[in-house]
Amino acid sequence: MSNDSMQEQNWYSKDTDETLKEFEVKESEGLSQDDVSERLNKYGRNELPEEEGENSFIKFLKHFNDVLIYILLVAAVVTALLGHFIDTAVILLVAIINASIGYFQESKAEKALEGIKNMLSLEANVLRNGEKREVDAAEVVPGDIVYLSAGDKIPADIRLLSADNLKVEEAALTGESTSAEKSTDVLDEDTVLGDRENMAFSGTSVTSGSGHGIVTATGENTEIGKINQSISQVEELKTPLMKQTDRFGKQVAVFILVAAVFIYLFGFFIRDYGAGELLLSIIGLAVAAIPEGLPAIISIILALGVQNMAKRKAIVRNLPSVETLGAVSVICSDKTGTLTKNEMTVTSVMTKDDSYEVTGTGYAPEGEIRDGDEEADAEQRGDLLELLTAMKTCNDSTLRKDEEGYWTINGEPTEGCLLTLAEKANTDIDRLDVQSKIPFDSAYKYMAVLTERDGEKLIYVKGAPDRLFEMAERGNGDFDRSYWEKKMKQRTTKGERVLSAGFKKVSDEVTKIDHEDLEEGVEFLGLTGIIDPPREEAISAVEECTKAGIGVKMITGDHKDTAMAIGKQLGIGDGQKGLEGRDIDKMSDDELSEAILEYDVFARTSPDNKLRIVEALQENNQVSAMTGDGVNDAPALKRADIGVAMGIKGTEVAKESSQMVLVDDNFETIVNAVEEGRRVYANLKKTILFILPTNGAQSFLIMISILLGTLMPLTPIQILWVNMVIAVTVSLALAFEPLEKGAMDRPPRPVKTPLLTPYYIFRIIFVSLLIGGGTMVLFMNLINQGMEEAMINSVVLQTIVIMQMFHLFNTRNEIGFAFNKNFFKNKFAFIVSGVLLALQAFILYVPFMNTAFGTVPLGWTYWVIPFILGAIVFTVIEAEKAITRKVVQRKEKES
Ligand code: ADP
Ligand code: MG
Repeated sequence: MSNDSMQEQNWYSKDTDETLKEFEVKESEGLSQDDVSERLNKYGRNELPEEEGENSFIKFLKHFNDVLIYILLVAAVVTALLGHFIDTAVILLVAIINASIGYFQESKAEKALEGIKNMLSLEANVLRNGEKREVDAAEVVPGDIVYLSAGDKIPADIRLLSADNLKVEEAALTGESTSAEKSTDVLDEDTVLGDRENMAFSGTSVTSGSGHGIVTATGENTEIGKINQSISQVEELKTPLMKQTDRFGKQVAVFILVAAVFIYLFGFFIRDYGAGELLLSIIGLAVAAIPEGLPAIISIILALGVQNMAKRKAIVRNLPSVETLGAVSVICSDKTGTLTKNEMTVTSVMTKDDSYEVTGTGYAPEGEIRDGDEEADAEQRGDLLELLTAMKTCNDSTLRKDEEGYWTINGEPTEGCLLTLAEKANTDIDRLDVQSKIPFDSAYKYMAVLTERDGEKLIYVKGAPDRLFEMAERGNGDFDRSYWEKKMKQRTTKGERVLSAGFKKVSDEVTKIDHEDLEEGVEFLGLTGIIDPPREEAISAVEECTKAGIGVKMITGDHKDTAMAIGKQLGIGDGQKGLEGRDIDKMSDDELSEAILEYDVFARTSPDNKLRIVEALQENNQVSAMTGDGVNDAPALKRADIGVAMGIKGTEVAKESSQMVLVDDNFETIVNAVEEGRRVYANLKKTILFILPTNGAQSFLIMISILLGTLMPLTPIQILWVNMVIAVTVSLALAFEPLEKGAMDRPPRPVKTPLLTPYYIFRIIFVSLLIGGGTMVLFMNLINQGMEEAMINSVVLQTIVIMQMFHLFNTRNEIGFAFNKNFFKNKFAFIVSGVLLALQAFILYVPFMNTAFGTVPLGWTYWVIPFILGAIVFTVIEAEKAITRKVVQRKEKES
């Protein structure tokens, strides 16, 4: 059979045995590694061809769509009409270079995000050589046996071999957003796609339940491949700050227009300039006022931020999140695995008659179940035997020794530790065959299986004690709830996770179980106490958050006492206060938005609660990061300002719904990302503080010279040299500036603060006047000396550039003293200064550059004078910063 026709067949109308036979695979074994290699060759990788992006020429053109570029283009036209073709050429060149930088930066950012997407490649659970394992979804081949559970993205088209309450959301394929219930029954040949219940299709996702099946088609041959619909989302590339700078650009444009009209009228009527001459000066002004290099610099800084975060194990999926991270004011974190180690060990077992202590740690089945001083004999203790059997049978994980001899589990640690417990018994515990199953879900907090023992059908259920207490109380008179509550409390108050098990006999006819079957008549078997110690690094990360004014809230499905006790060990909450999911359910939105500020520990929560918690925080103007792993966490992850998905235990759906993915599932990583976010934001602000005075100073110079009727201090092409080449090179150094000391001791910035605060506006104007004024004095002097024009232009250019170099060292700290401990930390500041001096030498002494830029070689005096002026400017700004520091300190003291 050819490979295509194999994947083209209507497997939904064939029975499972036939399908298995056709694909030459055993349900219990899966494919061998050799089969897989062979099939990978034959059928290709399980990938869709790269989607064709927007035409790159159109993408390039889009970068001309900006008011400031329009102004440059108008300037080009005007100079052309006046016959100044060299200026026209240069201005056009700048517009093109600008668009190219923008285009280049954008594609670089896109590539960075693309690369990051690859790091998040889809995983699939397959059976190979008789063992379950996780593989890259691209390496799934037809005939593979794949396991599915809630939250999985389905990796290929699959004919189902089993389906336990399996529900799949197929909107990507059918547009239908309600989940379709799956089964394994053979269907008619003419069943339409949306009704093929025994198939699970690539690109759709499991909303609940579990199942397994055989891969019938991969890559382009899947249904989604056929319609070739993209399932990846478009990532946003504009950040709030970029939007603010866009708006700022428009303001600059208005300023230029107003100034142009004013200068034109003034020059024409009062000073008798010729129209052409005036137009040229106005063009000079426009070119000077526009910060041509700023957009490029901003995207470079953001892209570097994304890379740094990835290095620190936080994968950010879009650029705006880098900025938002810096403003995070509350982190809501899962407990299990994020704040704790998720290395579960059962330490105690409680049955109706006895209590046992369990020795040994980790998953290695080395240790004993002890009753007092001696090992308990499970053979003799019927209730213990039954409890262990229930825990082992009602269990989705497996325990094995790996190649290096370490004991590891495949599955949930909560379940894995129960297998280890069963192994520690002094007799073999049976794992009974499962006929039907209700998989665990944190929305209802238990799991149940239908099984058969000694010819009798029964359901085993394990889960949160409070849920099982309810089941046991109903319909059965002899259950002593307060006795068990007391037993449970002994362990939960120590911070242990307590899990319980029960059973219920059912009639022989039952073949499938549902939640209703467990509503009453469950016999309670006992409890297990499980320790899961806090991560040491989480304790210090919580402390760091407290210093940085970031609230930490623990959100867990665990018992309230457990949560409060662990919380206290971590520094979250006081160990006395906690809110339960059911309390939240009872509260109105208003009540919740008040309570949210008061409580730090949220226990027995359902995924719905998470969404309301996020909303309540936003109601209080908090910027929240919320972690999650399951499918039903998706709405909360989407809603949060920063949805944080777990990279290891998170489901594909959770990852797709969030802005950030933690490679190591570790709370500390979130805090690191916030720190990096603060650094990036601070450096963006510094860049703006650095670049804008260049434009201010030049605009000032040009305006004054028009008003005074002198010659132009700089030609348009020289202005562009300063704005494009020098400013961009130099401000690159700021991208590498480390986090300022104390930046993590300050509360987070309020999100709504505008880019240009009054202080910023003051500072930009102040520095503009300082640099512009200094240059002006020198400029007037040179004119009075009767120096020739090209020489004057060269000196002015040199002076502005060198002063900016000094100014760089002012801006490295916003208001902090320039010569601090970090002064030599950022090597780039010095490298870039060296490069800048080299560039100046280049433009001044290379004949070809002299011709192109209208410069002339300068003697050593015109290196010394700018250096002196630069040092003066530097000192004055440092003095201003010192005064500002005092003012800020005084204000802080007052409030
Ligand atoms: P967390 O937010 O701490 O990870 P979960 O929602 O995963 O909490 O679990 C909530 C409760 O459900 C646990 O306290 C435990 O009692 C129970 N539970 C957890 N995992 C399982 C499982 N695999 N099977 C049965 N019950 C479980
Ligand atoms: Mg959990």
